[in-house]
Amino acid sequence: MSIGLYIHIPFCQQKCLYCDFPSVAGREDLYAAYTAALCREIAGKGGLLSVCTVDTVYIGGGTPTVLPAGCLEELGRCLRANVAVAAGAEFTFEANPGTLDGDKLAVLRANGANRVSLGVQAFDDGVLAAAGRIHTAAQAAEAVAAVRKAGFGRISIDLMYGLPGQTAAGFRAGLEQAAALPVEHVSVYGLKVEEGTPFARLAAEGRLVLPDEAEDEAMYDLAASFLPARGFARYEISNYARPGAECRHNLRYWRYEPYIGVGAAAHSFWQGERLANTADVQEYIARALAGESPLASRERPEAAVAMAEYAFLALRTAAGVSYEDFAARFGREFPRLYGAAADKLARQGLVTAGEGSLRLTEKGQKFGNIVFAAFLPD
Ligand code: SF4
Repeated sequence: MSIGLYIHIPFCQQKCLYCDFPSVAGREDLYAAYTAALCREIAGKGGLLSVCTVDTVYIGGGTPTVLPAGCLEELGRCLRANVAVAAGAEFTFEANPGTLDGDKLAVLRANGANRVSLGVQAFDDGVLAAAGRIHTAAQAAEAVAAVRKAGFGRISIDLMYGLPGQTAAGFRAGLEQAAALPVEHVSVYGLKVEEGTPFARLAAEGRLVLPDEAEDEAMYDLAASFLPARGFARYEISNYARPGAECRHNLRYWRYEPYIGVGAAAHSFWQGERLANTADVQEYIARALAGESPLASRERPEAAVAMAEYAFLALRTAAGVSYEDFAARFGREFPRLYGAAADKLARQGLVTAGEGSLRLTEKGQKFGNIVFAAFLPD
């Protein structure tokens, strides 16, 4: 069986003002112990990870590249010793342009990494500063060049729209800069003001000025039309890639395929169960180093929930829901189960039925939440 391996690094140099991802800043004192804890957890899963073929590895965060080269080397050694990574596997790590250097790139490359996902977010220094990013647009472009020079075959960049100070014209200029870089993959996310973030506090105080709805929608539309016109096909709601450069690891999530997560706050999907490690970094370190399980929760979704999850994850992708795959997994006929919901959504112009499949239309991609809600059990 093939699986994906996700490794979470819960540290950042500085928290971005919009971010609610599980990461902490200013805890350099924990880097060495965390790396040791990760290696302990990976070694403890060695049986499973060496029996399965790991064909995607993804080191995410947080910012994996805040770890010093020595920690990255230790992690690489641990992976080589414990994980049967398939030949030709996709091995990605996320990086912040403000935290990369030649030593780290060399260590990661020497340990099998072949894809880098760079958090660029915008090509406007004012917008970056207002979002609390630690790098400039020029540093982002330099990081892309350095990654390529270090021998990585695949580079992805993340962009955001809807940030304070952003305009559709500025966003378009950023798309032009992105498309001119030697990258194969672009992810585009709209800002969501998440509870508990500095942006949420500013919003509550009436001090967060965001682009208005029309400007926001114009930016969404720009990404959806500009990137495909420049050769980046939209293969998932937020993701665009040159042919063959789709992120295989993330496709696992949308295709309901198994993956194992290690590290604080890491999630796994294994044999129909969803499992999550504790998000408390110090608790994670203590438990993993003591040889205890860092699991905080596990649950097996009931069939109706699992089928709905499958449907809305698959619908995120350009391929959509395959009725054949659905029947093979759940032993049920998708059109029988969801025919009425699908017909209603089709009348609204949100989905379209193909040969043995159901896919989102362009309108459905924009209003995905309406579609996804239609599949949830009552
Ligand atoms: S670098 Fe990424 S993970 Fe870290 S605070 Fe910023 S958005 Fe969040």
